[in-house]
Amino acid sequence: MYLLTLNSFYSAVNINYSFQYVWFNIGSVDTFERNLETAQLEFGIEGENRLPVVYSAESDGSFLLSMLPTVLIVGFLLYTLRRGPTGMGRTGRGMGGLFSVGETTAKVLKDEIDVKFKDVAGCEEAKLEIMEFVNFLKNPKQYQDLGAKIPKGAILTGPPGTGKTLLAKATAGEANVPFITVNGSEFLEMFVGVGPARVRDLFALARKNAPCILFIDEIDAVGRKRGRGNFGGQSEQENTLNQLLVEMDGFNTTTNVVILAGTNRPDILDPALMRPGRFDRQIYIGPPDIKGRASIFKVHLRPLKLESIIDKDNLARKLASLTPGFSGADIANVCNEAALIAARHLSDAINQKHFEQAIERVIGGLEKKTQVLQPEEKKTVAYHEAGHAVAGWFLEHADPLLKVSIIPRGKGLGYAQYLPREQYLYTKEQLLDRMCMTLGGRVSEQIFFGRITTGAQDDLKKVTQSAYAQIVQFGMNEKVGQISFDLPRQGDMVLEKPYSEATARLIDEEVRTLINSAYERTVTLLMEKKAYVEKVALRLLEKEVIDKSDMVELLGPRPFAEKSTYEEFVEGTGSLDEDTSLPEGLKDWNKDREKEKEETTDEQIASLTSLPGKIMEQVI
Ligand code: ADP
Ligand code: ZN
Repeated sequence: MYLLTLNSFYSAVNINYSFQYVWFNIGSVDTFERNLETAQLEFGIEGENRLPVVYSAESDGSFLLSMLPTVLIVGFLLYTLRRGPTGMGRTGRGMGGLFSVGETTAKVLKDEIDVKFKDVAGCEEAKLEIMEFVNFLKNPKQYQDLGAKIPKGAILTGPPGTGKTLLAKATAGEANVPFITVNGSEFLEMFVGVGPARVRDLFALARKNAPCILFIDEIDAVGRKRGRGNFGGQSEQENTLNQLLVEMDGFNTTTNVVILAGTNRPDILDPALMRPGRFDRQIYIGPPDIKGRASIFKVHLRPLKLESIIDKDNLARKLASLTPGFSGADIANVCNEAALIAARHLSDAINQKHFEQAIERVIGGLEKKTQVLQPEEKKTVAYHEAGHAVAGWFLEHADPLLKVSIIPRGKGLGYAQYLPREQYLYTKEQLLDRMCMTLGGRVSEQIFFGRITTGAQDDLKKVTQSAYAQIVQFGMNEKVGQISFDLPRQGDMVLEKPYSEATARLIDEEVRTLINSAYERTVTLLMEKKAYVEKVALRLLEKEVIDKSDMVELLGPRPFAEKSTYEEFVEGTGSLDEDTSLPEGLKDWNKDREKEKEETTDEQIASLTSLPGKIMEQVI
């Protein structure tokens, strides 16, 4: 459309300045206007002589005609896409799908739920919040008598592996009711009508098993916002979502079905799902903090056979301090790996060494003993890792180092393990120090070999992400100012940026300036400490794995105070362990209530309606 207008535009240029032609490549309207502006400045065209730009959409049919081949191709592609799977060897499944229309794929667990609240650790607030559903399922009458409306369901949100499914299951376990589970993606089918039919079927199943808990995992698959930039298959997903809403509205307080749903993308859910009477509670389960991790370790250490000198509580605390950033699932994985490693070594009990190896394995992936690095490559990796280690050692805000290794592992050629502070607010200086430490690897390669390798890709990605986040999300750049936009997440379809072309260019420039200045700073630092980097690299080549004590031996103690033990980490946060007394207290309260049922006073009614309604505030 721009092109059409531009034809006349060129002629305008020709008429007024017939001796000079100005040619532009037109990428976008923005760049075009900018180029025109510059050109007019160059020619010294003033005021009213300036060319006005008028946009209009013209259509003489030729446009449509020119689109015809594209339309045909797209149509053909869509047609084959619909037919594709059946045509390409999926015939059997396709027909099966047709015949089993609407048959739900949900699983019903009745008596085999042995998960209780005590098996879910590190999310006491969430437990407290969900306790109300247990009470409701156990004594529905108590609520009905009072005319209380019970929330129909809750959405459990949080990163993967934090125990959302586990908590939902434990809720069923505590209430001693059947647990019906289904995955949101099971409603998405190629065939029209299957999704909604499955939803109807699922809810019929739930009604049949009432009182029960219905758990829909990954509800974002069906619950996406309606009518927003999704292509194809969209209307079918919308129908499924509509059916889900209709079914939820059809439940009343006497149905005795509680619907829980899990997702790690609450931001893309359709707001209609969260309206009162549907999923009116959102329970956030964040990644566990150090105390939470200690509690989760305690849960998973329980069934393990440890060496008799080991005190489980102490071990749990120690491991918690070594595993920042781990989710509940990672922790379960570490405990199982430790047992497997012990078995592989034919030990009859698990010791601390096994746990340390298990942690390394979960962080770095499997050790690749067979992968042979050329001596030259090995040297590069050693200097790269030494660069990270030395840079971090002398940057105040960089995380304390635990160990550096140049044994190739599944996820990379070398790796360094750090103990990041558990921190929710970062200053600009802290982020800059982290960037510099991350750049340390490449800088070291540059200093020692005068060439750079592909080994720094992951580092560069992290640095770029951090730089963009600082400027676009955290408003930490002077020129761009105090603004915040959402950065696209992995897998998001980015159709247009929420800011103008000019802002985009400014952001890109500032990101480059920020990274360059961090790079320069790191070069200066490592040039100054060049001898140290060399020492550490040589030690790495000799031993392959070095830890903090080697670093202290080579570089002297780190010039900044650092925390490394559990006790130091939790200092100033009140108690040594997580406060798990709340849900227990509530349970007793509930028992007391059953006893006093006959003589309910006004006060008690008031306290009942203000049952734990604490909604967790989400910190950055
Ligand atoms: P999500 O549904 O949040 O992705 P899951 O509930 O499936 O995570 O967790 C996977 C496994 O990780 C669980 O079966 C359990 O063994 C372990 N796990 C996760 N969170 C916890 C926790 N808070 N307490 C104990 N174990 C946990
Ligand atoms: Zn690196």
